[in-house]
Amino acid sequence: MLSINNLTVKYGQITAVREISFEVKKGEIACIVGPNGAGKSTTLLTISGVLKPSNGDINLDNNTIAGFSPEQIAGLGVTQVPEGRHIFTSLTVEENLKVGAALRNDKDTIAQDIERITTLFPILGERKQQQAGKLSGGEQQMLAIGRALMTNPSIMTIDEPSLGLAPIIIDKVYEALVSLRKETGLTLLIVEQSAERALQVADMIYVLRNGEIKLKGTSKELKGNDKISKAYFGFDER
Ligand code: ATP
Repeated sequence: MLSINNLTVKYGQITAVREISFEVKKGEIACIVGPNGAGKSTTLLTISGVLKPSNGDINLDNNTIAGFSPEQIAGLGVTQVPEGRHIFTSLTVEENLKVGAALRNDKDTIAQDIERITTLFPILGERKQQQAGKLSGGEQQMLAIGRALMTNPSIMTIDEPSLGLAPIIIDKVYEALVSLRKETGLTLLIVEQSAERALQVADMIYVLRNGEIKLKGTSKELKGNDKISKAYFGFDER
């Protein structure tokens, strides 16, 4: 569905991502894991069109989207839940969800979709009329995911859904993502700092460090051995 080929992204003279290639198949949960500064956010921002590649290609269903604007890419069904959530704090939960549907043409199914999202995250249903800024960090993460779902995506990328959340809340967020994939077949590309968490939920894992993919494999292949931690921390280069 999504394929990244020899992608290089630079900030001026700094190369943040260097010739990386990977793919996310339809209905798959893929995780990019890696330490701070590895290039994870840069990769997602380039897929969503916020950053432009210096080199390489990004294909969605075999058509290039490299260099497209964020609006064009969103229009093709690629939605991003950014790091830090960026919900509209002065709007209500329901208004935030409606913002997600702003670019949709099928306005008559919006209420139905809000219903679906509040079934996935019941707390959002209970707090529908509450100002979003008053939600807890975990609830805000759920709202950010809910708002992204309102765009009716075929693939959703999420930048560090666990950031700053208690383990029990992280469990809830991931449980919802896994059931979402199971029920709707939504394709997910998740950036995650915790390799352990990625091993629990992902079909495919890519370890990114210093802007390069150091290791890739299925969770099955990588579970129970030290390959991931070696690639993550760079012990393989000693
Ligand atoms: P984290 O887990 O800390 O969010 P990350 O893996 O998402 O890290 P990126 O944010 O993609 O990493 O950063 C990759 C590299 O690019 C880092 O060296 C970072 O300092 C650099 N970088 C990121 N944003 C900019 C920017 N706007 N200008 C210059 N350099 C940047």
